Amino acid sequence: PQVFSYKFTGELWQGETELNTGLFIDGKFIDGCHGTTIDVLNPTTGKLITKVAEGTAQDVDVAVKAAQKAFDTTWGLNASGAARAALLRKLADLMDFHKEELAAIEALDNGKWTVGIAALKNTIALIYKQYYSGWADKITGQTLETNESKLTYTRHEPIGVVGQIIPWNFPLLLMTWKIAPALATGNCIILKPSEFTPLTALRMAALIKEAGFPDGVVNVIPGYGEVAGAAIAAHLDIEKVAFTGSTLVGRKIMQAASQSNIKGVALELGGKSPNIIFDDADLDQAVAAAALGIFWNNGQVCAAGSRIFVQAGVYDEFLKRFTARAKSMVIGDPFAKGVDEGPLVSKPHFDRVMGYIKSGIEQGATVHYSGEEHSGDGYFIKPTIFTDTTPDMRIVQEEIFGPVVVVIKFTDEDDVIRQANNTIYGLAALVFSQNTNRALDTAHRLKAGTVWVNCAGQLHANVPFGGFKQSGFGRDLGEYALHNYTNIKAVQVGLQRRK
Ligand code: NAD
Repeated sequence: PQVFSYKFTGELWQGETELNTGLFIDGKFIDGCHGTTIDVLNPTTGKLITKVAEGTAQDVDVAVKAAQKAFDTTWGLNASGAARAALLRKLADLMDFHKEELAAIEALDNGKWTVGIAALKNTIALIYKQYYSGWADKITGQTLETNESKLTYTRHEPIGVVGQIIPWNFPLLLMTWKIAPALATGNCIILKPSEFTPLTALRMAALIKEAGFPDGVVNVIPGYGEVAGAAIAAHLDIEKVAFTGSTLVGRKIMQAASQSNIKGVALELGGKSPNIIFDDADLDQAVAAAALGIFWNNGQVCAAGSRIFVQAGVYDEFLKRFTARAKSMVIGDPFAKGVDEGPLVSKPHFDRVMGYIKSGIEQGATVHYSGEEHSGDGYFIKPTIFTDTTPDMRIVQEEIFGPVVVVIKFTDEDDVIRQANNTIYGLAALVFSQNTNRALDTAHRLKAGTVWVNCAGQLHANVPFGGFKQSGFGRDLGEYALHNYTNIKAVQVGLQRRK
């Protein structure tokens, strides 16, 4: 395998990185069995950054064997909770030490800097230092009352070898969301990053080794979804697969799981989150939150507030202020000072988002602002606002995953809740009102895994995140995520009372 060296010369950060481009299996970087590679492109320029090894079904198999061996010897029930906690803390320290470098690799590969650095700080501080490392020695079962001639208790045992498949929109953040609870509970991991953004996962692999995790505990296999991803989902010795990505692929994961070994599945899928702004909202707050809700990370956010419902009394004023915000956003090179948003992640995704803008126009919606790409060699799209939509339009129903939003006027409270719930998704929702009864009543009637009331996009390590309906099941973050990674064993012991 090659070592990739890169010198960053951007305005926001200057420095260099060296990362290995092989598959990370059993504690070593190696070439794939087939010797094939994946081109990794820079979304800001469209140019090749480097090539990484491509993992195939055969490589997944090699990694599973290494992971199983580690589980049976150095990890799983062989490593104490305190030892697992210490390793997680060490990894967090290394991430902290290398945080600018990690954020820079992410910006090079994915197109975000400001968003990346914020996400990274959050990840290190919350996930490792204060949260999942804290859980590692607190994984306990229960003692259950049965009768006096019995001792009955449960153990929360690690599952074994788990597969984790993640998307490109927050490569590093989602990697940590996945690996932290799985490691805290003693599992071994086969992780496949997206073929579009494998670089930070490879840098993390080197840090995982440096932190001292035993060989085979974490294996990182860059690869294509239908090859390496499908092999993970169908593998007979992987007992669980945790997937974050589209609903379309989530269906395939469930199918493969059911047709192979009935492995457990956790799915974090797509969204089309409603943002409901009532007449009595604090409009400054609502405008700022709505902009953050849809334009942060270019709308490439599963929980993006992509359908804004505004009550008639404040609709015109909201639209005026919200449009001014969209216009003021600076798009450009993520390493340049003063830039709010970089490019979208890839050419196929750029084409997909532009296709949605075209469909909105063809189906009769009004482009209130933009609808255009932004000049440059990379994959830039300006924030886009549609009005005059109807509920059946594709831009109202389908996840666009770009900086494109529909703003819809409503009068009636029951009607807006019905419309808000009228998609196949149920990931998140936002509500703005200064009337607590109204805000909470609405929050409780929305079918969504997260409801942000008078705030937007907040994520905390101890607060579960996940979906209702076709946005998936299982939860990332919080104590709930630990449940994804343990098997519950009930032990019943017969006792004889001593005379
Ligand atoms: P995607 O579903 O195309 O790909 C996700 C991952 O699955 C990638 O690693 C890909 O290689 C792999 N994959 C593709 N086909 C596969 C197959 N047949 N078998 C196994 N693996 C396969 O999604 P994407 O375009 O990378 O990411 C965008 C999607 O992710 C959006 O729908 C977004 O809402 C969702 N997402 C959800 C959350 C959440 O927490 N709910 C968070 C982030 C992103």
